[in-house]
Amino acid sequence: MRIIFLGAPGAGKGTQAETVSRKLNIPTISTGNIIRAAIKDGTKMGLAAKEYTDKGLLVPDDVVIGIIKERLSEDDCKEGFILDGFPRTIPQAESLDQMGIEIDKVINIHVPDETIIKRISGRRVCLTCGTTYHIEYKPTREPDKCDVCGSVPVQRKDDSIETVKERLRVYHEQTEPLIKYYEQKGKLRTVEGQERVEDTTALTLKALED
Ligand code: ADP
Ligand code: ZN
Repeated sequence: MRIIFLGAPGAGKGTQAETVSRKLNIPTISTGNIIRAAIKDGTKMGLAAKEYTDKGLLVPDDVVIGIIKERLSEDDCKEGFILDGFPRTIPQAESLDQMGIEIDKVINIHVPDETIIKRISGRRVCLTCGTTYHIEYKPTREPDKCDVCGSVPVQRKDDSIETVKERLRVYHEQTEPLIKYYEQKGKLRTVEGQERVEDTTALTLKALED
């Protein structure tokens, strides 16, 4: 299965992607995590990307398309994959078509802007392995310790309230048109984001079945 998770920043697509990934035993590819890892490692791409992510802007299409092309050519993607955070613009979606990649389902997680702004301040991410947490809705099992690798999850720099507002503006302008794009292809399923993560997961799994 080849699945795309769409949704505003903080809608919970990363969390849902991780769950479905474990269940179907296919990798999740998160452009956000790949970019954060590159920033942490101080690579050339990371340094260039940081200029954009810090401001809440999208990294240029050619950079992210390059990242995805390379990643999807790896062996573990042969049986399927989940894309979390890609595509985010129409040209990015068209690049998948041009690569001859047939997407099965696009899950659009819908959460109102006001809820996102409230939620995002509690979000934490493990910069070592990319696992995401929320202090209230999805805490680590032990305090300040990533369940997967033991590092201390931190708040992302771009999760400050001002940057979140800018990311939402960019989402509505550049990413939201993808809803229509995939609706027209008959691939879109919209899931209303619930307060409890498990409730959203149940709806997501149902949406993947029909
Ligand atoms: P969220 O979905 O919570 O906004 P991500 O972790 O997916 O966060 O992405 C963080 C940042 O990385 C984005 O704000 C953007 O700057 C950059 N980024 C991630 N994916 C893409 C993409 N497909 N195109 C352009 N920029 C991207
Ligand atoms: Zn970790």
